[in-house]
Amino acid sequence: MTVPPDRIEELRTLITQASVDYYVHDRPTVDDVVYDGWVRELEALEAEHPELVTPDSPTQRVGAPVATQFSPVIHREAMLSLANARGAEELVEWHRRLRDALRTAGHDEAPDRFVVEPKIDGLAISLTYEQGRFVRGATRGDGTVGEDVTQNLRTIGVIPARLALDDPPPVVEIRGEVYLPLAAFADFNASRAAAGLATFANPRNAAAGSLRQIDPRVTAERPLSMWAYGVGGADGLAPETQLELLDWLRTAGLPVNGDIALCTGIEEAAAACARWEERRAELDFDIDGAVVKLNDLAAQTAAGAVARAPRWAVAYKFAPTTATTYLREIRVNVGRTGALIPFAVMDPVDVGGVTVSRATLHNHEDIARKDLRVGDRVVIQRAGDVIPQVVAPLTQDRDGSEVPFAMPERCPVCGTPVVQPDGEVQMRCPNRSCPEQIVQSIEHFASRGAMDIEGLGAKTVVRLFEVGLVRDVADIYGLAARRDELLALEGFKETSVNNLLEAIRASAAQPWSRVLYAVGIRHVGEVTAQALADVVPSLEELLEAGPEQLADADGVGPVVAASVREYLGSEANLRTLERLRQAGLHMRHEGPPRPAGGPLAGCSVVVTGALEGMTRDEARQAVVHAGGTATDSVSKNTTFVVAGPGAGSKLAKAHKLGIPVVDRDGFGAILAGTRPVPEPADA
Ligand code: NAD
Repeated sequence: MTVPPDRIEELRTLITQASVDYYVHDRPTVDDVVYDGWVRELEALEAEHPELVTPDSPTQRVGAPVATQFSPVIHREAMLSLANARGAEELVEWHRRLRDALRTAGHDEAPDRFVVEPKIDGLAISLTYEQGRFVRGATRGDGTVGEDVTQNLRTIGVIPARLALDDPPPVVEIRGEVYLPLAAFADFNASRAAAGLATFANPRNAAAGSLRQIDPRVTAERPLSMWAYGVGGADGLAPETQLELLDWLRTAGLPVNGDIALCTGIEEAAAACARWEERRAELDFDIDGAVVKLNDLAAQTAAGAVARAPRWAVAYKFAPTTATTYLREIRVNVGRTGALIPFAVMDPVDVGGVTVSRATLHNHEDIARKDLRVGDRVVIQRAGDVIPQVVAPLTQDRDGSEVPFAMPERCPVCGTPVVQPDGEVQMRCPNRSCPEQIVQSIEHFASRGAMDIEGLGAKTVVRLFEVGLVRDVADIYGLAARRDELLALEGFKETSVNNLLEAIRASAAQPWSRVLYAVGIRHVGEVTAQALADVVPSLEELLEAGPEQLADADGVGPVVAASVREYLGSEANLRTLERLRQAGLHMRHEGPPRPAGGPLAGCSVVVTGALEGMTRDEARQAVVHAGGTATDSVSKNTTFVVAGPGAGSKLAKAHKLGIPVVDRDGFGAILAGTRPVPEPADA
């Protein structure tokens, strides 16, 4: 075991080098988790050996020295870092320390009012306004001296050139965080990859790299934004609380987040932090925690600061949802409609508490756009409950051994040469008899949103296909007559066979819209199938329907209409449909017509993210039952969006288009008729 002071020295060297890469070059060379681990280890060793603490230890310093290409700016008040709390217990511990510090300072009243703000993962800036005019802006630098980035900050639209005050203070330094919105970050990285430039590991580094530019014209092209959250010294300004201070900033025309909560007691503050963590995936900017601040400003002053952080505030850190790992291989799956879908095989890595080793790569164009190569160190991201994504390669880590990816020329399952239909990004195996496609289409037919046949999962389908019992979806309904053959299969017991046959029998009662979805027509998802079933309520009418009639269905454009016609143009498909009819499946809409009225009559609703107590499918059904139309993509015609944790690009688009967004509770209230359908102005 290495003993201090050797380990202490080693940690200081590692942390200092990493800080320079991170703060000065905007190019982190180690993961935040690793870096934070070093800092914690060093803090623990220094606590055990206080005699070894030196003023230049990274535990006593903020950030990194300023880069020489910028003029130095001395901050009126130091721009400090924040102490961390990981979880509610450490928050309570921080509260105890704060109470003790205040008591020592002669404040007997226990601190119990806190403001909980989002901890924006961007870079800290200071804006100096003299007589209400923006005169100077600086980065945090080493906390005492920052870098002059005034001209660059002038290019950020939300930073006012003049404060909106009749009587502004003579001088005020405003503190805030510059960040890059998530959608802008994705576009920005994509265009850099397309231009052959290095991509940024995360929005924070992209924001820092964009602001710390020598040429302000470069900054101007990057859609940076800012949230303000404090003041670092002002003449003639005397708010009494953090909340009043935030109100003043808002009045002065600075952007202040609207969801900041005042909490009584540390438990309430912990709950507010947990709420920010839940909401994290819905936001269009990255946060890596919540900041709990003492509301009373006089008490803040009394509490003071330790070496590099104030005592009156603490960062409640969330579990990280990004990590880096190595991309070892790119393999290709064949989908139900023949699409060749590449996926990444990576060294297993923990991302926000989940071990990730695989992620879809969508298509070869996406891989080319991100310039992913086998052997790259890559950034992986999980947002809420969403599937992991490979965000970008860390191109600066390449040593030349990385291999660009090429799609296979033949289907990896059946060997048929692949094709790329005009206007499509996906390459396909054109062989309709490709065993993988057949197996997947049978799996799709039996899946929950389709015919919902319990017991007919992936493994069973493969087995039944291999032994020749099911070669087509219609064969499923012939299984009852082949019970003995099923029982003869290894692992197929009496009870499971009975249950399977019962589930198959029951599935015949599924409505026409489900059958339309289950047969697997390209581009016809659950929602489109429902819409199609509304305008063509039977198979006969579907066979007769021209493109115009199909286009009457919501969400059916020329692509879907052509795909339906193509499906019906195949003799084999018509034979399958006929066999399904003979098996007793519903080939026409039965039951009461859809309600013409209802609270959502005439509304087009998009459901995204996870909703408590209902699946997304159930939420869409609820929209349909309430007389509305559930659609898949957000457009200017969308009435409102229902968003839960994990919502991503649809939510971002809704914000962009000004479409109202409601949460699970709001949706429930609208369905129950206790809340009106939101108007665009409510957004
Ligand atoms: P910090 O980011 O944890 O906390 C302090 C900062 O929080 C402030 O300076 C401010 O910029 C920001 N902030 C955001 N919202 C705020 C709000 N509402 N109120 C007040 N402040 C707010 O501390 P730090 O010292 O800036 O940086 C440490 C972080 O940087 C760690 O997460 C660490 O992992 C990362 N880091 C990583 C590397 C690396 O090599 N990977 C190197 C250095 C630092």
